[in-house]
Amino acid sequence: MNKDKTAYIRNFLVQKMEDLRTSANDTISKLTISDDKFADPSDQAAAETSKDVELNCRDKEWHLLLDIKETIMRIDSGLFGVCDHCGRPISQKRLMAAPMSKLCVMCQEEIESQHNKQKHRRQYVGRISYSHA
Ligand SMILES: [Zn+2]
Repeated sequence: MNKDKTAYIRNFLVQKMEDLRTSANDTISKLTISDDKFADPSDQAAAETSKDVELNCRDKEWHLLLDIKETIMRIDSGLFGVCDHCGRPISQKRLMAAPMSKLCVMCQEEIESQHNKQKHRRQYVGRISYSHA
């Protein structure tokens, strides 16, 4: 990953973080304004449900914000583009498509296949025979 591309990704992430912060502030002010009581309990319930949905959505954005922050920290500390698992460089193509990747394609696939195996193991527990290929 060359410096120009890394700088480009960093700028992109900073911008994305600002966007998320702005929209999060919007929600907070909206929630404060709409915090009035309804005479009809079903109206109140509906209002609270939509608030829950909104907050749930914000929760995901919050996690995204943390991921972005972490990625910017990785860029600043020179760890960006290095696989957390094997320490090899993550391909530029992968980083351009998914800047928040912490694993190279091979490790990602390996971990995913392990997850799948674990799922199967739980499903077929007691019926598995291990072959040492
Ligand atoms: Zn790796």
